[in-house]
Amino acid sequence: MTDSWFEETLYANFQLRLRINNVLHHQKTDYQDLIVFENGQFGRVLALDGAIQTTEADEFFYHEMLAHPPIFAHGDVKRVLIVGGGDGGALEEVLKHPVEKAVMVEIDPTVIKLSKKYLPAISAGAFEDPRTEIVIQDGTKFVSETKERFDVIVIDSTDPIGPATALFQKTFYENCKRCLTEKGILITQSGVPFLQADEARDVHRHLRTLFPDHGFYTVPVPTYSGGFMVLGWASRSDQNRAVSRDRLERRYTASGIATRYYNPDIHLAAFALPNYIRELMG
Ligand code: SAM
Repeated sequence: MTDSWFEETLYANFQLRLRINNVLHHQKTDYQDLIVFENGQFGRVLALDGAIQTTEADEFFYHEMLAHPPIFAHGDVKRVLIVGGGDGGALEEVLKHPVEKAVMVEIDPTVIKLSKKYLPAISAGAFEDPRTEIVIQDGTKFVSETKERFDVIVIDSTDPIGPATALFQKTFYENCKRCLTEKGILITQSGVPFLQADEARDVHRHLRTLFPDHGFYTVPVPTYSGGFMVLGWASRSDQNRAVSRDRLERRYTASGIATRYYNPDIHLAAFALPNYIRELMG
């Protein structure tokens, strides 16, 4: 960090810089270096260990695409598990649906505490929703022990550095599979493949060996620079992916959910992958 710029430290040869208008909070938590600052373009910004996590202005791209494609595709989601996601943005999108329960397993309680305090617009009351259950635990431990079953599991993790490393390993995905209902869907944050090809390649290799239906869909997130981000999609059932446009449209319209990025056309188009991404999926 220089005087008034936040310089992302994610990549060796490429850097994103955001002007810091005002630092709201900066501390080392038990798990990571956390900063919340204000930027003239993106509003309030959360970064962990030198990597942008979310911003008030562009969070909707990412959080809408984590939650709505699996929930609208499935059509009858009652229970959702979110691993990570301490800012509450994914939780907020999930709770826009009439789900019975959303369990969020976050390793770092300080992320939740400070997101509630400094980024309330991102969670928009989701932490207080009676359907929310917060578990402060390593996600790998939770999925290896829980007896609960979920219709959708969303891995809203940091990059595979520090506490999130284990969230990119095969054993973790195996345990997620065990926690899914028969038609359940696993969604994974799998990075920006133009810059993080190994990450996407490894995630896909694991999903391919574990799930009959596996693949990626894309979302462009302005502060996750480098082109499309990919989200992993894995299920025992191929019915979810095969949902028709008409059915998606009916579900989306009936839900009354207002979205800024997601719509049924985007849903279907997001599964069209450019060749450089297909290639790393083998
Ligand atoms: N989408 C964001 C990104 O990629 O930049 C991630 C947002 S969210 C803040 C990521 C959260 O994952 C963090 O709050 C972090 O504490 C949490 N996390 C990292 N490793 C974890 C683990 N092993 N179990 C549960 N949560 C974890």
